Amino acid sequence: MDIDQNLIARIASEVMARVQKEASTGSGGMGIFATIDEAVEAARLAQKQLRKLTIEKREVLITAMRDAAYKDAAILAEMAVNESGMGRVADKILKNQLAARKTPGTEDLETEAWSGDKGLTLIERGPFGVIGAITPTTNPSETVINNGIGMIAAGNSVVFSPHPTAKNTSLKTIRILNEAIIGAGGPANLLTAVAEPSLEATNAMMAHPHINMLVATGGPAVVRAVMSSGKKAIGAGAGNPPAIVDETANIERAARDIIAGCSFDNNLPCIAEKEVITVGSIADRLISYMQKYGGYLISGQDIDRLVKVILTENVEMAASGCTEKPKRTYAVNKKFVGKDAKYILKQIGIDVPDDIRVVICETSADHPFVLEELMMPVLPIIQVNNVDEAIALGVSVEHGNRHTAVMHSQNVDNLTRFAKAVETTIFVKNAPSFAGIGVGGEGFTTFTIAGPTGEGLTSPRSFTRQRRCVLVDALSVV
Ligand code: NAD
Repeated sequence: MDIDQNLIARIASEVMARVQKEASTGSGGMGIFATIDEAVEAARLAQKQLRKLTIEKREVLITAMRDAAYKDAAILAEMAVNESGMGRVADKILKNQLAARKTPGTEDLETEAWSGDKGLTLIERGPFGVIGAITPTTNPSETVINNGIGMIAAGNSVVFSPHPTAKNTSLKTIRILNEAIIGAGGPANLLTAVAEPSLEATNAMMAHPHINMLVATGGPAVVRAVMSSGKKAIGAGAGNPPAIVDETANIERAARDIIAGCSFDNNLPCIAEKEVITVGSIADRLISYMQKYGGYLISGQDIDRLVKVILTENVEMAASGCTEKPKRTYAVNKKFVGKDAKYILKQIGIDVPDDIRVVICETSADHPFVLEELMMPVLPIIQVNNVDEAIALGVSVEHGNRHTAVMHSQNVDNLTRFAKAVETTIFVKNAPSFAGIGVGGEGFTTFTIAGPTGEGLTSPRSFTRQRRCVLVDALSVV
């Protein structure tokens, strides 16, 4: 899909003009404020009003949010790609639509009950209050839609801390959702943020006494920050998902699915395949099918050239002297995160047609392409002797994130052994990774996958407190 630059520029300048006006005059109910104190206070008042509404009315507001987000899915997708310079518009449209349609609502808040001789005891799920939600640059509208629906379904309001590099997209999403809520007769400012998101603003938000719960979707630093905040925190952190292919797999299908999953939104999703581990006997066929489905194979010096482009290297000399080998560490060059395979290949002098979706290359298991979370369509492939070695390596390169892993195999024992060993929140068998968040697979969606704190695929119930209500000697009819 072509991006209409004029349209994007017009939307961005309109949003900024409105944001600046509202920041100086009050938000007009659309949630954007000059200071954290104002954003938290407005969200606190909005949550009190939400609490007075029936669950049925809450569902009306959520339906309006879903419809608005679905309707503006394309505008938000184009804005995100334009502003952050990452990802693919067509895929981001799908992700926005997915968040709008497949995020669970109030039906997720199931009550538990015990009844018997002593009466009736209920466990109900009540809201936390005001949630501080920190969102990533990689999913700047999707996470706001998904967290917004889920947190409001649970009876909360939300103060968002968007990533500064995608702030206009996140703020626009907040406005769209607030507008929908108000249009459906709900309170103003259920979702708020500051007009100029920054690390300082996020820290002030996290420390604010009226923020009752924190939810961080991002890399290790922000997950650590919320977990050490002293507040109830949900941390949805980084992944490095391996995809194993054993000799029993449907090899063509495995190749097709891996390319589809790896290239989705140019590999930005935390769940996307980041390295392939294949049993050696089928490697050639797998690679040849990957080429058929949009993989472009590079080797030798081209790999070395690509290392220099997409990674920055830091060499540390051992403190004790010159006999020890220097320690090399790598960091991902952010300029290439979420870029098209064609663009990345161009940097090393290779021109390819537009239908090339992923750069593939054979590497050793300790190559930085394997060990770093690249978040771009560059996919290393490692050959091993057998499935036991594949499983051991898959566990090792997942780095204990316990996030996502994929396996292509027709052998139930092999699938079970890897799933048990890798202990990931999401384990996808014989499909692209995105099946794990409800695309072409059963189940609801989320854009906040909380491995470190254990909530798993978050949904409205993740944003609730359990409350027990006991009535003795009555209301049991048995
Ligand atoms: P990031 O960690 O740089 O930023 C995420 C958010 O945290 C941003 O709003 C940022 O401003 C804030 N932040 C970063 N460091 C902080 C700190 N020390 N204190 C307070 N706030 C801080 O990540 P990103 O580049 O925006 O997103 C990509 C990362 O997020 C990847 O590692 C990806 O795997 C992960 N991710 C995880 C999930 C999940 O559900 N588990 C979903 C999407 C992205």
